[in-house]
Formats: sequence, C-alpha cells, structure tokens
Amino acid sequence: MRINKYIALCGVASRRKAEELILAGRVTVNDEVMTELSYKVDEENDIVKVDDKLIKEENKLVYILLNKPEGYITTVKDQFDRPSVLDLVSDIKERVYPIGRLDYETSGLLLLTNDGDLTYKLTHPKHEIDKTYVARVKGKLTKEEIERFKGGLKIEDYTTAPAKLKVIKYDEQRDSSLLEIKIHEGKNRQVRKMCKAINHPVLRLRRSAMGKIKIGDCEIGKYRYLTEDEIKYLK
Ligand code: URA
Repeated sequence: MRINKYIALCGVASRRKAEELILAGRVTVNDEVMTELSYKVDEENDIVKVDDKLIKEENKLVYILLNKPEGYITTVKDQFDRPSVLDLVSDIKERVYPIGRLDYETSGLLLLTNDGDLTYKLTHPKHEIDKTYVARVKGKLTKEEIERFKGGLKIEDYTTAPAKLKVIKYDEQRDSSLLEIKIHEGKNRQVRKMCKAINHPVLRLRRSAMGKIKIGDCEIGKYRYLTEDEIKYLK
C-alpha cells in the first residue's frame, strides 16, 4: 500500500496531509527518512514512524458496511446466545463495533468501525443524517395516515420529527404495502412503532441507506470497506 494511504488509514492524517508530512521529512521507514511519495509500505515488516512516533496497526481506523441479515443481534452478546453481526466480520483484524443498531429482525445497512469519534458523531441525537428504510407493512395506507406519519407521531412519551414516506407499491393479493421511509432519529424500534401507530404493523424491515451511503450490491451477510469519499462524507 502506498505510504500516504497507509498513514491515512492509521488515522494519523488525511492522504493529502500525509503527503505533506512525507515531503517535510517527518516520516521514517525502518528509521530512514522517507520522502518518496510512491513508496509502498510492507505492512508486515516495515516500521513506519511519524515524528518519531510508531504508527501501530491498532491505530488503523477501519470503516465497514455490512449487509446485515435478519436474525442477528448488533451487540456483542445477549442472554439468548443469538448470533451477532460481529460473527460476520470476524476476519477483520481490528476490533470494530456497530455504529448504532438494527433490531434482531431488521436487515440491511449497518456501519461498523473502530473510530470512536465518528460513532459519537453519528449516534448523537442532533445528527441529521437520514436513514432510509424499505418496509413491508400490513394493509393499504390512506392519505390521512400518510400525512399523519409524515407530520410526526406521538409514540409513548415523545413525538417523532417529521419523516418522509413514499408508497412504492400496494400488493392486493397479500394486502400489504411496500414503503420507503426516511427518518433521521434513531429511537429504539422507531420505524416499527411509527408504522404501528398508524395501524400498519411492519412485516419486514430493511435499511437501504444512511445519507448518501447506499447498500448497493453488497450481498446479504457480506461486508465491504467504505470508500475514501464515503468516509469523508460521514466525517
Ligand atoms: N427502526 C426500527 O424499528 N428498527 C430498526 O432496526 C431500525 C429502525
């Protein structure tokens, strides 16, 4: 891997800033100053230091997008010993953990990282990033129900912020509707509770996007690393 990319992935600086550090002679490889931007780091054997400080593997920040299947918990363990999403990323060296959560029965986009700052930012209640869900719900929604949903619903002791709702399709045979829902809050089981509040309980739920980050063609149960652009966008 190119040295500037390696430095950036270790969480020391952005790639561009890493180039500046290299050109300024602040980076050493095996105790020799390295000013060649094209140098390829041997991750197993090279000792890379920035300002005399070793860049350790554990410092490497990783950002993963997992397509979570139904039937997995998003915590490390639970009392029922159910499978955890961490089982699906067990080949990743770094100790990653989910950003926020998805219910055991919900599938779809789940981000995992070892970047505590990003987790803090994205799970903060004030954070405005839209989360997009595709929900199959019971029955056919009336115009009034759609408007109520969009305007904010009283659930337990709080009122939800305005949400977006688009009916993709009503299936007459199954008497169910496919909905696209966008919310930016992240209360426990919020989409399920909102749909129940308008008398259309969720039958299946999948998260398809967080902001501009889309699940795309990542297969169910598989993961991919976020691109540089996606990481920049989230930060
Ligand atoms: N809303 C829910 O009800 N469940 C999820 O898993 C995510 C959002």
